[in-house]
Amino acid sequence: MSGNQDRRDAFEGCFGGLAAIGRDPGGGWTRLAWTEEDRAARSWFEASAADLGLTVERDAAGNLWAWWGGPPAGPAAEGAEGQVVAVGSHLDTVRGGGAYDGALGVVSGLLAVGELIRRGVEPQRPVAVVAFADEEGGRFGVPLFGSRVLTGALDPADLLERADEHGTTVAEALAAAGIDPDGFGPDPARVGRLAAFVELHVEQGRGLADLGQPVALATAMWPHGRWRLTVGGEANHAGTTRLADRHDPMLGLAAAVLAARAAATELEAVATVGRVLVEPNSANSVPERVSAWLDARAEEDQRLDWLLAAFEAAVEDAAGRNGLTIELAGESRTPGVEFDRALTDRLDACLRASGLEPARLPTAAGHDAGALAAAVPTAMLFVRNPTGTSHSPAETAEVDDCLAGVGALAAVIEELACR
Ligand SMILES: [Zn+2]
Repeated sequence: MSGNQDRRDAFEGCFGGLAAIGRDPGGGWTRLAWTEEDRAARSWFEASAADLGLTVERDAAGNLWAWWGGPPAGPAAEGAEGQVVAVGSHLDTVRGGGAYDGALGVVSGLLAVGELIRRGVEPQRPVAVVAFADEEGGRFGVPLFGSRVLTGALDPADLLERADEHGTTVAEALAAAGIDPDGFGPDPARVGRLAAFVELHVEQGRGLADLGQPVALATAMWPHGRWRLTVGGEANHAGTTRLADRHDPMLGLAAAVLAARAAATELEAVATVGRVLVEPNSANSVPERVSAWLDARAEEDQRLDWLLAAFEAAVEDAAGRNGLTIELAGESRTPGVEFDRALTDRLDACLRASGLEPARLPTAAGHDAGALAAAVPTAMLFVRNPTGTSHSPAETAEVDDCLAGVGALAAVIEELACR
């Protein structure tokens, strides 16, 4: 069997193991944080890492670390500041998401280390493959949960009482997953031991497809935010209530959605209302209340502020005309990130030496790498997504491109940790 066929088989075996977890009847993948599916994915990670001879441990923020070269913990960690090279991504998904988002980075990290072990390469400093917890925020509405708690950017005390749609709190979900919520928090010593973090991720746009390239290095991450809008009106009969007598909150939401779209077009930004709750959600009633979530991203913070202002002005205007109440609450705001230039240039040179010509692309998606970048020299690799579709079962990548990504990540680990 050829070496290339071996690598294909290794990829399909490893990726397929994770992709078997959290399948929806409708064809997508749903692995929300701290659910049974998430637990199964974390067990898969522990078993896959153990197969490679890696030791797995969990940090204080619930993230899993698989160590090649030993965990630099305890007294042996003295003098280990800035020594560890970490790669990885996340195991959780959005509801009905794709197979590659997050998963590809974790699988590629394990396979890249496996490839180096098979070639007899020895790490000169500890290497960790990290599976970050609750990256998507699909259950509790707080994205980058594990990575931001780890670095101290999020205070878990503010979040433990947050509930999911069934009323289960973060604290209860952690306890059910065997994690003591009282011990949940940042780990500055662990972060201080990192020399570099590199996240590989499937591209969530068509940048590489348009360029005809398999792999890119990220330049920057757009600032983005998530807001919850609640518009209150008055429930009434859909047939007998005259239009002039209605207080229909759906009109406020509709105006806001269209305004966000117009502002996004103007500002070359993106705005999405992808989640809506309608009460009482009855086809023949004027609704009493609608709640909706706005996700907006732009090249600069200023543009994000303008977009939000347009959204708010439109709903205020509609509220004035229709007798509605409004509540607009920020759920998260992530500043823009410039990835480490020196590290990215070093990876660029290393990838060119291994025969790749990586493109450079910005991204409007959020990533754990963005959270790590605040504390550690950080870079990102993207793997081509032929259609650009993501957060959907249609998200995909060719095996050859995934193998190029694994090869790139192996070259990066070798460059940063094995020389
Ligand atoms: Zn992701």
